[in-house]
Amino acid sequence: MRVGIGHDTHRLEVGRPLMLGGLRIDHPRGLIGHSDADVVLHALTDALLGAAGLGDIGDAFPDTDPQYKNRESSFFLHETLIRVDQKGYRVINVDVIVFAQEPKLGPVKAQMRKRLADLLTLDLDAVNVKAKTGEKVGAIGRGEAISCQVVVLIDKKK
Ligand code: MG
Repeated sequence: MRVGIGHDTHRLEVGRPLMLGGLRIDHPRGLIGHSDADVVLHALTDALLGAAGLGDIGDAFPDTDPQYKNRESSFFLHETLIRVDQKGYRVINVDVIVFAQEPKLGPVKAQMRKRLADLLTLDLDAVNVKAKTGEKVGAIGRGEAISCQVVVLIDKKK
């Protein structure tokens, strides 16, 4: 068995769609980035790459490469799952923490969990999503950014 950790932060800006965990969330501001800036899928992708010893998302999908511009982040996750599978591993479970002062994520946590389970082809029980605010301090607490941390466990396929 191997463990991986992922972290990501993106800035919020007016006029961008907000993508989180593969969901389009209704909010006046969205995250800025080269792709759709989905911090949850980026942190999850990095955790998987880390667990499998495959580097990081910047190495795997360079933002200098025009083919990745405005890509849906589910593409990076899907490609990474193929690479993890090719190395002979399967995903056991993931635990996700989203740090956002706004929007309130309580109402979408269950939907995000389901979406992530679908993207990972895992049972709902193997995917956990937690939401935290920034307690009104720091960049998260001021609503300037959203962050995400993910821990993943993978195991050699039988
Ligand atoms: Mg990112």
